[in-house]
Amino acid sequence: MIEQDRITAFINSLDRGNAEFLDELEREAKAGEVPIIRKDTQALLKFLLSMNKPKNILEVGCAIGFSALLMGYYSNPDTRITTIEKFEKRIPIARDNFNKYDPDNKITLLEGDATEILKTLSPGYDFIFMDAAKGQYINFLPDCLRILNKGGLLVSDNVLQDGDVIESRFAVTRRDRTIHARMREYLYELKHNDALNTVILTVGDGMALSLKL
Ligand code: SAM
Repeated sequence: MIEQDRITAFINSLDRGNAEFLDELEREAKAGEVPIIRKDTQALLKFLLSMNKPKNILEVGCAIGFSALLMGYYSNPDTRITTIEKFEKRIPIARDNFNKYDPDNKITLLEGDATEILKTLSPGYDFIFMDAAKGQYINFLPDCLRILNKGGLLVSDNVLQDGDVIESRFAVTRRDRTIHARMREYLYELKHNDALNTVILTVGDGMALSLKL
């Protein structure tokens, strides 16, 4: 693990960084202990966006808007991003950040629980970024697959849970046991669903990339 941390630090040291407002937001998020995507996850997202050029992005788990703004900044001008957040304390901060840093109104924030909101969304997304409560990914999956276009990409973050996912269920704390079991079930489903081609990467806290066939 220590070796892996050094490799990640080396890779991150080569990164050219982001636009200044994103660096500032990242600092604010860290200071406020808001969990946002890691540096290497940011780099992978930017790479995928420049390769896939999605028109319609959905994010599940907005927090204060860092990753939505990153995707907005590093995507084509006609790309639209819908992002979902349920935590009342974070919603006004995200709105404020979008007012400040999304001058072209590329981003739409939907307030509420993704469990309910996902059911109301129509098909037509070509990129879905899943970054909400890890124990709920498996519940969100059917709706995500319903609204994801064929040829579209589902990107799931935090799927390795800092290595916990490979531990025995008895080695994780009681509180995390349900999340542990659900994440294993989720990864199994991503790899065995005939409608998907999935690769699991050790980038960040583990990322699964699933192409809808
Ligand atoms: N994507 C963000 C970024 O990198 O800037 C970070 C998202 S943070 C890891 C996860 C967010 O998902 C939290 O703010 C949490 O409140 C939200 N969340 C968790 N479960 C949710 C749900 N069921 N519906 C909507 N939001 C949810």
